[in-house]
Amino acid sequence: MGDVRIGIDLGGTKLEAIALDEAGSELVRRRSATPAGDYGATIRAITGLVGEIERGLGRRGTVGVGMPGAISPATGLVKNANSVWLLGKAFHRDLAAALGRPVRVANDANCFAVSEAVDGAAAGAAVVFGVILGTGVGGGVAIRGRALDGANAIAGEWGHNPLPWPRDDERPGRRCYCGKAGCVETFLSGPGVMADYQAATGLRLEPEALLRRAEAGEAAAEAALSRYEDRLARGLASVINLLDPDVIVLGGGLSNIRRLYENVPRRWGEYVFSDAVATRLVPPHHGDSSGVRGAAWLWPPDPTPRAAP
Ligand SMILES: [Zn+2]
Repeated sequence: MGDVRIGIDLGGTKLEAIALDEAGSELVRRRSATPAGDYGATIRAITGLVGEIERGLGRRGTVGVGMPGAISPATGLVKNANSVWLLGKAFHRDLAAALGRPVRVANDANCFAVSEAVDGAAAGAAVVFGVILGTGVGGGVAIRGRALDGANAIAGEWGHNPLPWPRDDERPGRRCYCGKAGCVETFLSGPGVMADYQAATGLRLEPEALLRRAEAGEAAAEAALSRYEDRLARGLASVINLLDPDVIVLGGGLSNIRRLYENVPRRWGEYVFSDAVATRLVPPHHGDSSGVRGAAWLWPPDPTPRAAP
């Protein structure tokens, strides 16, 4: 009977819970709808899932939660969350009180990085940058398997940096919801690549359709993907120059584009300030489960190996 780690992935529409044993094997998984718009019901839904899991296992676990946004170190309240009913709430404190135990809360991209660093595509790597390329662009950092929060709880948030080494036709770039223009997110998110192709062709296509057209030999689709790869190479090169990670793991819908893993590292050497680049770019191992697994691993595995029985 080892330790049980319960992870919660609090998404905008879906609430997922998992329990892991100390080897990272999944003991149980539960899903429910997020009570969007209702803060009290959100807290109750999480405590309900934790209670259900613990009754089923007959054991009490640690609880970690991955959520959009972060707990502001300045105020102790939620900030930067697109699930707006959480904004300004003392989520961390309220949940700990409701569960009667300490709770660890981290940004969902940080949980992704932790999951892949502990026992995923970057297992054993000292410094891991996890990138979410989806509706938005997020990022998180795991150092020796632990989430790096940072003084402002924004470590890894590269999506709202400007796209580095911009070409003339990339300046000033499209407006971003954050109030700036030309953010990495406006180029590298799903909507970003769709807007880029639309600007060139007048057609609005989902990224998967764009990929199929490129594979069928359509020049405009191939050009859009090639621009995407060059922009991703530039964006990640600036991350490598700053953080120098061992592994970069891609997640989110666009991480399914297999050619990125070959083409982007082929291009980023031009921008990285180094004679050679040892950083690896890899797809996620746990896929959609990384958020909830990383939340569970916010209570890290014991670093000291146990003696053989
Ligand atoms: Zn922005």
